[in-house]
Amino acid sequence: CGVVGVFGHPEAANLTYLGLYALQHRGQESAGIVSGDGGKLFVQRGMGRVADVFGLEQISKLPGEQAIGHVRYSTAGGSELRNTQPIFINYRHGAFAVGHNGNLVNAVELRTRLEREGAIFHTDMDTEVIVHLLARVPGDDAGSRLAEALQQVSGAYSLVCLTESRLIGVRDPMGFRPLVLGRLIDSGGFVLASETCALDLMGAEFVRDVEPGELIVISKSGIESRKPFASVGRRMCVFEYIYFARPDSVLDGIHVYSARKRIGQALARLHPRDADVVVPVPDSGVAAAMGYAEASGLSFELGLIRNHYVGRTFIQPAQRGRDFGVKVKLNAQPNILRGKRVVLVDDSIVRGTTSAKIVSLVRAAGAREVHFVVSAPPTIGPCYYGIDTPDRSQLIAAQHSIEEVRKIIGADSLGYITLDALYEAVGGRGQGFCDACFSDDYPLPTPEGHGSRQLH
Ligand code: 5GP
Ligand code: SF4
Ligand code: MG
Repeated sequence: CGVVGVFGHPEAANLTYLGLYALQHRGQESAGIVSGDGGKLFVQRGMGRVADVFGLEQISKLPGEQAIGHVRYSTAGGSELRNTQPIFINYRHGAFAVGHNGNLVNAVELRTRLEREGAIFHTDMDTEVIVHLLARVPGDDAGSRLAEALQQVSGAYSLVCLTESRLIGVRDPMGFRPLVLGRLIDSGGFVLASETCALDLMGAEFVRDVEPGELIVISKSGIESRKPFASVGRRMCVFEYIYFARPDSVLDGIHVYSARKRIGQALARLHPRDADVVVPVPDSGVAAAMGYAEASGLSFELGLIRNHYVGRTFIQPAQRGRDFGVKVKLNAQPNILRGKRVVLVDDSIVRGTTSAKIVSLVRAAGAREVHFVVSAPPTIGPCYYGIDTPDRSQLIAAQHSIEEVRKIIGADSLGYITLDALYEAVGGRGQGFCDACFSDDYPLPTPEGHGSRQLH
């Protein structure tokens, strides 16, 4: 998911809309904005992309100088209207809205307890437990109540929250998901956003990353930083750098595009191939393929062209050939690939089904050899912290050796990045990352029972 917050701008909802537009890659299932005029909160949410949900009419129903927004990609709860965010409630202290990026690992436990106590849930989302807890805890202001509620919550959460008078941003103690603070150049107001690419479009300058375990309260009297949680050590999701974040963003001081290029350079050193061209699987493999081409001296070619306009309403004909689903999005160019030995670069292999189809498209376009290189290590475990990976039984690298994966996807060779090379590319392990889906080292307990060994 992606989140945005604005405080102190006459067009707060419009800026939030722009921020969500820039964060669309983080979630396409639904979008929502809650705005506030200092007295009341207003809400507009819907299914689909930002441009499907918001037009001038919707934005005009969101007055005020404060707003938060959310684009959703579901990791807990189905994809339907009642599961759209921001969640918006009224409780004894007033109105409260929250947008969440991440996934709570003890939400089921908490929900069971709350329901036993009489709580009535309105959604299937893990995020809803936060507002139920909020209504039950003591505290003098929304910030301290929220901190108190979050003491009971375990998992990944980057939150933007809105009350009648405050914008609040929180990043969980491990900082799995990114969150940045910016300052609006024209009004001097503040913004929060999942990634810096949103600040650019909103006309805000980067101030700093919200720290793991930090809660920021923004009000008319200024900005206040609190550290309400016990310090546990940073565990930023390393997959954000490989795939999830937009390449033009800088997360925790690391430029995503440059990191991806360095991963590609490392792949060229780890898996050199006698080949003619380096071809990315667009868009996710582009930066790494550029790095591979640069380091290997091979030429970089767009042998696969992506159609960017495949929407949710695409009608599949009844008679469709093999690989049709992939062909809608990707077309292989025989003029580039015929007779060539190709290094094909992609960010990750999850189930292996897409990768197999892409290899077959490239061969059908005349490639003589297809050498697959991957800028993630083998994905051997699911993510419980905000990325929607399928369960272990469907992860091809959890069920098969690398040689077996190579055979299944039909490549002449297959090479993955190593964890060591990945960390070198993102500037060392020192900052503290989560790599659980590649290492099985889960920093928080999971439903499968992993992670008990490294609670530090
Ligand atoms: P597979 O071969 O495993 O079926 O598909 C691999 C492709 O899925 C890669 O191109 C990669 O970019 C993409 N991918 C990796 N992680 C995710 C994810 O979380 N969501 C989506 N939609 N695609 C992903
Ligand atoms: Fe990121 Fe993987 Fe950790 Fe999930 S398990 S937070 S995808 S590194
Ligand atoms: Mg991809």
